[in-house]
Amino acid sequence: MVDTVKRKALVLFSGGQDSATCLAWALERYTYVETIGFNYGQRHVVELECRKAVLDRLKTEFPNWTARIGEDHMLDLALLGQISDTALTQEQEITFKTSGLPSTFVPARNLLFFTFASAIAYRRGLSALVGGMCETDFSGYPDCRDNTLKALQVAISLGLDTTMVLETPLMWLNKAQTWQLAENLGGPPLVDLIRIETHTCYMGDRTYWNLWGYGCGQCPACELRRNGYETYVRREAA
Ligand code: ZN
Repeated sequence: MVDTVKRKALVLFSGGQDSATCLAWALERYTYVETIGFNYGQRHVVELECRKAVLDRLKTEFPNWTARIGEDHMLDLALLGQISDTALTQEQEITFKTSGLPSTFVPARNLLFFTFASAIAYRRGLSALVGGMCETDFSGYPDCRDNTLKALQVAISLGLDTTMVLETPLMWLNKAQTWQLAENLGGPPLVDLIRIETHTCYMGDRTYWNLWGYGCGQCPACELRRNGYETYVRREAA
């Protein structure tokens, strides 16, 4: 059995609900955790601004985790803008539509994120990468699938000539179960922190408050978050 206690992790932390839950999961499991965020000119820069608030509150309000939270890294991946929406040809737009992928999808984005994260983890002596990828809600994203990431784990470990474990604790959870996981990890205070401080809305809206968090309430991301939260609350009440 692998001794996880001595291992140190790097969490891909965007400031959204999923990655915040993964961060709490890692803090419960690893004695030392660093975080990494990627700025690639995405519409919801607001999500990145939520990162600091989440990290600050985790440090101050969860004493068991305070000493485990290490450095936060931010990588500028502006070059991704060159291969996202604006650079799409009409032909590619049609391919996106027939495959059911949204036009906001950056092909292979998560492969790049994990690869960049592995380079940082290697240099800092961290042996696990944690990400909030999930097959249950985002099966349309082939770079989020379990087999994709298991293959990537092998490629990265071979390429670095060291064991780099890719952890995806949300892989088989739906959104309601992700809220439940947050409750299991940090009780109602963690659920509240994630509700208030994390961001999911595609429109970048932080003005409309809903019980499940800030957001426009109309976009697919808000819809997913709302449905998940409402199912979670119903189960709590049952
Ligand atoms: Zn929204």
